[in-house]
Amino acid sequence: MERQKAMLASYFRELASAREAGRKVVYTFVPGNLTELIRAAGALGVYPEVNALQSAMRQKSEGYVREAERLGHSEDVCSYVKCDIGMLAAGNFGPTGEKLPPPDLLLLSYTGCFTFMKWFELLQKQYNCELAMLHVPYQAEGAVTEEMRRYVAQQLRTEVIPKLEKVTGRKVDLDELASLLAASARAEDDLSWVLDSARHTPSPIDAYFGGVYYVGPIFTAFRGTEACAEYYGELRPEVEGRIERREGPVMPNGSLAEERFRLGVEGPPNWTHFRDFWKIFYDEGAVVVASTYTKVGGFYDHGFRHGSDADPLLSLADYCLGCYTNQSLPARVELLASYVRDFHADGFVVNSLKSCNSFSVGQLVMLREVEQRTGVPGGFIETDLVDPRYYSQSNIKNRIESYLQMISRRREQA
Ligand code: SF4
Repeated sequence: MERQKAMLASYFRELASAREAGRKVVYTFVPGNLTELIRAAGALGVYPEVNALQSAMRQKSEGYVREAERLGHSEDVCSYVKCDIGMLAAGNFGPTGEKLPPPDLLLLSYTGCFTFMKWFELLQKQYNCELAMLHVPYQAEGAVTEEMRRYVAQQLRTEVIPKLEKVTGRKVDLDELASLLAASARAEDDLSWVLDSARHTPSPIDAYFGGVYYVGPIFTAFRGTEACAEYYGELRPEVEGRIERREGPVMPNGSLAEERFRLGVEGPPNWTHFRDFWKIFYDEGAVVVASTYTKVGGFYDHGFRHGSDADPLLSLADYCLGCYTNQSLPARVELLASYVRDFHADGFVVNSLKSCNSFSVGQLVMLREVEQRTGVPGGFIETDLVDPRYYSQSNIKNRIESYLQMISRRREQA
């Protein structure tokens, strides 16, 4: 956690001085982010969702959301968008208080969420800068075809790279890109191993609340860097040690003494009350052993690694196509059911977010389907990403406690 905080702080400092350093800046979304390509073009990436969630963790998001609503954005709009718009209206100071540079390029990797398009349309009006659109076909049939891969790679070649080169004035070297992808793959091996370690009993990690810290560097600006390799090089032995000592995960109030419940979770967390939310689970001895949210910025479960195709552009296409937000409802149901089975979960909780339609649509159907396939009961709660008006600690606590009591009663009866 400390190392990641330091990495982020240093990255925001780098962004704040990007203009003086002559660095170009590319805004892009976490799902489908082309971090290695941006680096190969010599530019720095800005990730609006990360700014929003970091602002929420520092209790700055509510004011931004309200400001966006004052400017006319509806209550129903994704609160990440409103947080970003409100932050921009307030001078575009990032979560650490340093000013964010305006984008030279908006790089829109469209991976399943329609809001991405509307969000960057708004930013384009504000900044009047270059915009590159990468259309990633939705995995409606639950599979990626060769045509889909080639279609995405072709757009990288003819739309994204030329625009990157235009704004940075630097040619993208595909060999350099390939070596950045190879460095990413090494870190991704470590991340996959860490997330998989939750199969142990007791689980040495919490794969949702703790998982947020495990996926951080790989989901954002650090893929392909030395700092990223060091981060995962430190994380993996730490988790190995916990397995050897049969220790549970580190939770908000220290190591968990007894693992009473193993859960799967679907949906992103609430960020404004992140630690209070986590503590509800911690107090009950509930450990999240697998979550879908830790797959939004890259899906590595089934073996995908950056650079696994000899053509770096096809490899980036595979990455974008595989993002969780780009997967169909039946595929998401099967994934969650497999987590319940493979990680020996006692139950699973769906955290339905008021403002994220991309995740929330169909979640009640998912709940029933996963219950049927696994025979394990599901729990349902409702919160929001970065709008604290839609988070009620007492309500969530009541629901989670009743849900876990129900699992206990079933155990006793069994
Ligand atoms: S609706 Fe959900 S997936 Fe789409 S931009 Fe908002 S938080 Fe991200």
